[in-house]
Amino acid sequence: MISRLDNYDWLVGRSAAIFCIVSTEKWIEADKRHGWHPFTRQAEWCAADHQPLVLVAGEGVWLEDSQGNRYIDGNSSIWTNVHGHAHPVLNAALAEQAQKVCHTSYLGFANPRASELAERLAGYFTSLQRVFFSDDGSTAMECALKMEVQYRQLVGQGEKCEIIAFDSCYHGDTMGAASLGGVDAFASRFRSFGMPVRHVSSVEQLVELDSSQLENVAALVIEPMVQGVNQIHVWPEGMLVKLREWCDAHDVHLIFDEVMTGFGRTGKMFACQHEAVEPDFLCLAKGLTGGYLPLAATLTNEKIYSAFIGSADRAFYYGHSYTANQLGCAVALANLDLFESENTLAQLAGKIQLLSELLGELAEEFVEIYDIRQCGFVAGVELRQLDGKKFPLDDRLGEHWCVKAREFGLLTRPVLDTIVVMPPLSITEDELRQLVAAMAKTMKAYFNH
Ligand SMILES: *Cc1c(COP(=O)(O)O)cnc(C)c1O
Repeated sequence: MISRLDNYDWLVGRSAAIFCIVSTEKWIEADKRHGWHPFTRQAEWCAADHQPLVLVAGEGVWLEDSQGNRYIDGNSSIWTNVHGHAHPVLNAALAEQAQKVCHTSYLGFANPRASELAERLAGYFTSLQRVFFSDDGSTAMECALKMEVQYRQLVGQGEKCEIIAFDSCYHGDTMGAASLGGVDAFASRFRSFGMPVRHVSSVEQLVELDSSQLENVAALVIEPMVQGVNQIHVWPEGMLVKLREWCDAHDVHLIFDEVMTGFGRTGKMFACQHEAVEPDFLCLAKGLTGGYLPLAATLTNEKIYSAFIGSADRAFYYGHSYTANQLGCAVALANLDLFESENTLAQLAGKIQLLSELLGELAEEFVEIYDIRQCGFVAGVELRQLDGKKFPLDDRLGEHWCVKAREFGLLTRPVLDTIVVMPPLSITEDELRQLVAAMAKTMKAYFNH
């Protein structure tokens, strides 16, 4: 016999469940009718048999879908999250700022949070003392490119406008940033509409360029330490120092795209600190707000900045409506505070080690794991056929593998057949074990072991 209370609970639970099913259907229907997802084959997405997950809540490294299933956020919600979801300190910073004001124009006005954040960011560097805010990784890059182009015009070197980028690089999707891209799927359609760019594969290839090829080169751009979109490609040690020297010797500015590597991801606050190199432009975004809001910053030095000082035509012609958004800056400040109060980087060292041990064990167990590439708390697990050949592209194995992983409580996305493992820095060792255990279960289920 059920008591009245149990009966009541049962009723509430049941109606909540029905409510969820009905809302989920509505959300999916509206999505398929009106939404348009990035980099997505919409015909497949909208097909009747495709049931997308609708994510409704998060706490720490966990995300919850509209049916109440919980998953580990294995790629930090596309490489953005740092201290976990719904962090009380970040939530409080947002709420407190929202009580005051959410947004005011940075065009014509200053605001307290942007002043504080600019000072905090500059505090991490010696030469990078100017901070230009924008909205996301692509605009941080776009801004660096436009600063570079205008700088050269201002100093009477207007013909210098070529950019050297690396093979298979990724710097975002606005037209200028996309034109730098070395991954054809993202960039080939747009390359001719953007910056003149030359790609090199390595420092060795760079130093072989002759002076006629360098005449009009303005800047060199790299994702320091590790290329994310290029299936987690880790650069050789010492490379940043060499690039800095080469750039200085050739009147070429150095742009570091730390959109992915910034804010602890590689084990240090910024990837450039591994080799104590400061670039002329540093682009930050994804982790800047701990993964809460779109906000970006392009940092530069006095040499670049001073060219913009003087007559009226020297103003930098760039900006967005939401530049230096107060909510974004407030949560970014709280994000930086947490690095100190939670000792994030010191805690991370052990987790980086544990991740590499756990992935090493995984690779021993499963022959389909061809390679593991790791830089700090970014890892890529590349899957290949038993003979070492890649799986046919059309199999889209990485994608299907990640859909399978959901059954074991893991959300992530691949780059081709490389599974990206990049959880929030706040993940506990126990949760990290759960993550890799979910990968092992997925391997077993996927490859019928
Ligand atoms: C994600 C990313 C970008 C683009 O940032 P968005 O915020 O997506 O515009 C640029 N560069 C790198 C290295 C990235 O990982």
